[in-house]
Amino acid sequence: MPVYVFACPICGRFELARPMARAGEAASCPECRREARRVYTPPNHALVSSKIRHAIGAEEASAHEPRVVSHKRGRPLPHRSEPSPPWVLH
Ligand SMILES: [Zn+2]
Repeated sequence: MPVYVFACPICGRFELARPMARAGEAASCPECRREARRVYTPPNHALVSSKIRHAIGAEEASAHEPRVVSHKRGRPLPHRSEPSPPWVLH
């Protein structure tokens, strides 16, 4: 059975395995039993490693509450030379 991601307005996201035919139906949150809406994710999103999922979660969290950065870190990207256009033959 495919696993779908749902979002509870109170508890956040959870995953639920259900038949594909019922994928679009609202689910009830396993924590508080409120109605949770399906979150549309790319295929196999539920299968990505927890590390990547953690990174995605952090990205979403920072979209709501960006962490304040007091100074820039790192070095600027090295200047890349322009790629040759596809019509140039080597
Ligand atoms: Zn909930």
